[in-house]
Amino acid sequence: MPTRRQVLAAVTAMAAAPHRAVARGRPSQGAAGSAGARPGWVAPLEGDISRLVTASMGSTQGWDRLAELCDTFGGRLTGSRNLELAIEWAAETMRRDGLEHVRLQETKAPYWVRGAESLDIMTPVASPLVMLGLGGSVGTPPDGLTAPLMVVRSFDELRTRASEVTGRIVLYDVPFTSYGQTVTYRAAGPSQAARFGALATLVRSVGPMGLRTPHTGALTYQADLPRIPGAAIPVEDANRLARLVARGVPVTLRLRMAAQTLADADSANVIGEITGRERPDEVVLLGGHFDSWDPAGGASDDGVGCIVTWEAARLMKQLALRPRRTVRIVLFTNEENGLRGGLAYRDGFAADAAKHVMALESDIGVFEPMRLGFTGNDRARQMMADVVDLLRPLGFPPLGPGGGGADIGPIAQVGQVPTMALSGDTTQYFQIHHTPADTVERIAPREVAKAAAGIAAVAWAAAEMPEALPR
Ligand SMILES: [Zn+2]
Repeated sequence: MPTRRQVLAAVTAMAAAPHRAVARGRPSQGAAGSAGARPGWVAPLEGDISRLVTASMGSTQGWDRLAELCDTFGGRLTGSRNLELAIEWAAETMRRDGLEHVRLQETKAPYWVRGAESLDIMTPVASPLVMLGLGGSVGTPPDGLTAPLMVVRSFDELRTRASEVTGRIVLYDVPFTSYGQTVTYRAAGPSQAARFGALATLVRSVGPMGLRTPHTGALTYQADLPRIPGAAIPVEDANRLARLVARGVPVTLRLRMAAQTLADADSANVIGEITGRERPDEVVLLGGHFDSWDPAGGASDDGVGCIVTWEAARLMKQLALRPRRTVRIVLFTNEENGLRGGLAYRDGFAADAAKHVMALESDIGVFEPMRLGFTGNDRARQMMADVVDLLRPLGFPPLGPGGGGADIGPIAQVGQVPTMALSGDTTQYFQIHHTPADTVERIAPREVAKAAAGIAAVAWAAAEMPEALPR
């Protein structure tokens, strides 16, 4: 039998991840393997964590399952048959894995359908553009909207030139800085332009330059303003339109969108567990969101987040590891255009909110370099940092800030729950985010295995430690 340290060293070789030697300041943060500095409560967990890590790194099961999900069901927009069937598949597959108390938590959720859509330059010369309507958008009349184009680079410019907006299609040609900064033009752009009489808006895709990939995503209408259609165009198409206008060429566009919002649909969260052996009512909650935008299978957003959290529980089952507390996997519905899954979970489990000892979400991909983040009090942070230290041979950096996620946020808020997040490299993530390029080819099997290993390790620690994480 190899020692635990030998197992972790072997796993390092298998992982073939560049080991990032990060300068760190705490006494227990020496070279990997300096277990002497680790607090006593960690040692009894090391063996099982090693087994979980080794089992994950030695398998492509996670990637294979992600491919099966994306290949079989494609995009999984809330309300679609695709999502409904994928939910049934997930519950069945969880049962086959041997997860316990597998069930659906039903909820109503917004139901938007894209319909046929197109965008064309009409003058100076007819030419089709690439586009994706924004989620929640109203459609155009059947023959489309044909109108002169106006290009602005900011909301300030829109306001300054308000008198020119009436009767136009407005393009927000705003370069991507960060998702948080730029997404406001996608979300709020249509209502802001409608305020000054625009007929429709286009937004330069919220993401870095890709291969002419449009990024969809939700818009939010302001209740007191007319609802006008909104669509996204790739960076290249936005550049082209902006260059034409800068040369003084009057451009006329025709936008056609058959989008509509139907009555709320039936949807559901998929829940499966490993029931705790001593304190089954205390819960470590792990999950991602199972819905996705429709142009691709949503491999990275957020199929992989569902798969890697689910893998953590499947690995425990496979190794016949039953933790002290319950590990609960939730594949949340409707994160992209309503968050009804996260809200339904909060409402359904409100009475047990404080029994959630830790909640982890994976919804920023698993692209290397990936990391684990934590939000909670200092003592709990130190405890989880000591656990994440065990993952240094896999290439995980020290525990960072930034726990949480959209879906676990509501229950975590009610229960004051310490939260974690597994996050991948954001540059790669936002390159394909909400695009037709969000496919499984972008994700390496090793990245899926490593993410599952990291989540399994911290989940096992939180579910097995003698006293629950302090809060
Ligand atoms: Zn997401």
